[in-house]
Amino acid sequence: MDKPTLDSGAVYDICTATARPSGVCKALQGLKEIVVKAAAAYEVAAAQQAQHTLSHLKHQPDGEPAAKPAEAAKVAKAAKAAKGSLNEQLKKTYVNRMVGGAGRAVYDKLRGSCHGLCALCGHGAADTLDHQMPKDSFPLLSVVPVNLVPACSRCNHQKREQAPTYAGDQTLHPYFDGDVHDHLWLFARITGPPKPSVIFYVDPPADMPPTFAARARHHFAALDLSGLYNSQIGNELRSLGMSLAKHPLLPAELRGHLQETAEIKAAVEGRNSWKAALYRGLVDSTWYVDGGWEEPWK
Ligand SMILES: [Zn+2]
Repeated sequence: MDKPTLDSGAVYDICTATARPSGVCKALQGLKEIVVKAAAAYEVAAAQQAQHTLSHLKHQPDGEPAAKPAEAAKVAKAAKAAKGSLNEQLKKTYVNRMVGGAGRAVYDKLRGSCHGLCALCGHGAADTLDHQMPKDSFPLLSVVPVNLVPACSRCNHQKREQAPTYAGDQTLHPYFDGDVHDHLWLFARITGPPKPSVIFYVDPPADMPPTFAARARHHFAALDLSGLYNSQIGNELRSLGMSLAKHPLLPAELRGHLQETAEIKAAVEGRNSWKAALYRGLVDSTWYVDGGWEEPWK
């Protein structure tokens, strides 16, 4: 999906202008330049799949003093005005003035940017925003648009507040890692009898860049997508079974039908969507095609 074109400085202005008391507002506005600079560094790192190199932004601005004296002086001035933790004030900027304040229009725009769907699992409704780099560790990125991804509550909860320690130690970023879907890496294995079951798994091809391969694996495991997909397949397979019971197909015809459905699901929902993977798995299952579809799916 396209990355948001919202300007990080303009969004920061919207989310800090109504901060109260005025000392806190002044303190936050004094940090604008540092936030914009952090947003630019984030964008460069994300484009190179290198968010783990952003450790210099960790726990800033309250953490270790900034390297440059001019920046350190700005932080000191802001800290004096805020009379407390700037990190907490930055996090409150998201909670109090983006989720529930002047920045709500920005929040809603970002939340709806994946057709109302979660950009992490592609399945659930986007009822929240996920901080790709967690705000607890990276307060400067609390309201930076390219760090905010439409997500369902389940994925947001599963992902937790983890920050990457190396390039592959990161879920896929919907705004920057779209090329990962140039490769086919999600598969499903259908097994039976006696009880039919589906095992989803990630198997990156040999020509897939290693960082993308590692991230695809991490994404699948960290978000427990196996659990999510398995909770969805029952209705899909039951309706397919009912349809085949009404209009039975010879094994060769059924294989062709499943192949065509897999191609349609890949075109509409993505080649690494669970539905495309499921139908590819059904095509490859001799047991299913030769009559396994008649087994009731429980
Ligand atoms: Zn999700």
